Amino acid sequence: MDSISFLMQEIKKFVKERNWEKYHTPKNLAISISIEANELLEHFQWNEVSCEEIRGNEEKFREISYEVADVFIYLLMFSYNLGIDVKKVIMEKLEMNRRKYPAQ
Ligand SMILES: [Mg+2]
Repeated sequence: MDSISFLMQEIKKFVKERNWEKYHTPKNLAISISIEANELLEHFQWNEVSCEEIRGNEEKFREISYEVADVFIYLLMFSYNLGIDVKKVIMEKLEMNRRKYPAQ
């Protein structure tokens, strides 16, 4: 089992144990992806911080990491419910982008 499938199984188990499937409509999950992406963005409101600064600040690094996890969790749930093969579509998009933006 690859790491994406493993994560999907873990998330599915977490959701099922709480009987939360009924809340996970495509609209609710898409909204949740956006909310969590904006929580990530909030860390950069009114300030410019470098990767080095974030990595050097343990608390900031942890908070940002958890927002990344929130975004991924909702993206994976959304993808799973719609039957989107995440690995396949990422590879397809990379190929489309390779053609659109050829390497110099
Ligand atoms: Mg969050």
